Amino acid sequence: MIVLVFKYLIPKGFRGFTFFPFVFLSDKKDKAHTVLLNHERIHIRQQLELLIVLFFIWYGIEFLVRLVRYKNRRVAYYNISFEREAYANEKDLDYLKRRSFWNFLKYL
Ligand SMILES: [Zn+2]
Repeated sequence: MIVLVFKYLIPKGFRGFTFFPFVFLSDKKDKAHTVLLNHERIHIRQQLELLIVLFFIWYGIEFLVRLVRYKNRRVAYYNISFEREAYANEKDLDYLKRRSFWNFLKYL
């Protein structure tokens, strides 16, 4: 995982964006934010499991499906299975050590 700080690359309202093997942060102080970095590390694992490209296709489709259902971008985002898994486990710093393959499916 390579952490880079780019103030203007991150969409408004977000603190980080992950594109394997990079994690882009909007604020350099977040380089010390272990929970945020663990959240992004979970996305790195999800991306690897879906060969990166499939992750983004799936992410986009699931976002649209959730958007139709909830009619709210923020709520749709929080309900994407990848985000549900990452938010549910970001505080558990050992989560990735015991996480099983394609575990995001449990959060669909
Ligand atoms: Zn996330």
